[in-house]
Amino acid sequence: KDFRNKVKPNWCPGCGDFSVLAAMQRAFANVGLEPEEVAIVSGIGCSGRISGYVNAYGLHGVHGRALPIAQGLKLANRDLTVVASGGDGDGFAIGMGHTVHAIRRNVDVTYVVMDNQIYGLTKGQTSPRSAQGFQTKSTPQGSIEQAISPLELALSLNAGFVAQSFSSDLKQLTHVIEEGLKHKGFSLINVYSPCVTYNKINTYEWFKQNIVNLDTLEGYDNANRAQAMQTLMEHDGLVTGILYQNKERPPYEAMIKGFKEEGLAKQDLNISEEQFDRLMAEFA
Ligand code: SF4
Repeated sequence: KDFRNKVKPNWCPGCGDFSVLAAMQRAFANVGLEPEEVAIVSGIGCSGRISGYVNAYGLHGVHGRALPIAQGLKLANRDLTVVASGGDGDGFAIGMGHTVHAIRRNVDVTYVVMDNQIYGLTKGQTSPRSAQGFQTKSTPQGSIEQAISPLELALSLNAGFVAQSFSSDLKQLTHVIEEGLKHKGFSLINVYSPCVTYNKINTYEWFKQNIVNLDTLEGYDNANRAQAMQTLMEHDGLVTGILYQNKERPPYEAMIKGFKEEGLAKQDLNISEEQFDRLMAEFA
């Protein structure tokens, strides 16, 4: 099971997204998936290119719209393992409306966000994850707005799986993605993935000095949502590991009365050949 393909990523040398790609490819293999069982839908941004770098089905979609496509895909073909992916600008600015509703809807999709606190593809503007005071070309006097906290938001929406990791910790990152893939329902995985070209503040070194691995916190219980929220607030969001998991919350699919085990893509259309031809002609 090799999830690598022959396409050479055109990310800058040292970009954190390389590790996310490697972790994703390993995680798919480690949980026993085959390439034809996986679909990756990505948004727009440097990180959005990831869907073209994995040996699996890939769809590089529209800015901020990876999640609606991914959810539709999962509902239509439940045999597929569906991953949505993109950057913090894609998911927490233009796509935030979809992120919020995907969390509360809880379709079985794994959402991996490459969070570099900047817009890299458009050459370095402030993103919704940039800290207050962050200076870029778009905010030369420093960002006035506060950064969004996606994990706090996800917890407030009673997300079933909330995790965070760091590009430098390939082992943890792979593990977290594996657990997200295994989780039944929506999983949000935010990854600190440094932009080495445009973000000179939130560097690998900066993260190494500031993040706290949840495994090192004595008595931390990731089934306790209140504790997860409190821990996040205490550490200004800079924690890594599986922050919260609720294994009891059923996915959206399981809640639909009469919903067939097989998604639409696998169901018998129950129409004659002539009706089918007529239908196809309408779309031609
Ligand atoms: Fe990565 Fe930044 Fe380069 Fe984009 S601009 S590929 S995010 S290092």
